[in-house]
Amino acid sequence: MENIKKFACVINCMDGRVQDAVKDYMKKNYAVDYVDMVTEPGPNKILADASTNSAQLNSAVIEDIKKCVGVSIHHHGSKVIAIVGHFGCAGNPTEKLEQITHLKLAQKTVENFSFQAEIILLWVDGDWQTVEKII
Ligand SMILES: [Zn+2]
Repeated sequence: MENIKKFACVINCMDGRVQDAVKDYMKKNYAVDYVDMVTEPGPNKILADASTNSAQLNSAVIEDIKKCVGVSIHHHGSKVIAIVGHFGCAGNPTEKLEQITHLKLAQKTVENFSFQAEIILLWVDGDWQTVEKII
């Protein structure tokens, strides 16, 4: 019998420096075989803006993120969605504490997508290896 391969979903920055760290973290800590990456520049800022501005909530980029996460949940059976912020982000050029605030607001937006999945928040440090779980 074929093994069922497990997936996780990550709403990640498109920054190439964080891809391996986040993928490895999810494989190790959530015992998944594959990690679906939904990428935007500074997605925590994009999703945070949508949590406080209903016009942003219906924007094409939010709809696209929701669609991609939906594929991961419904077609790949992902049970966890990670949202990522990182040091030195060109898409969200703010300090860590502010980005953590964005991550928490982003969580509200993703909760409103109403997928049956755990939502976690991750921070990647400037060594491009250290991944900290915020929530
Ligand atoms: Zn970034």
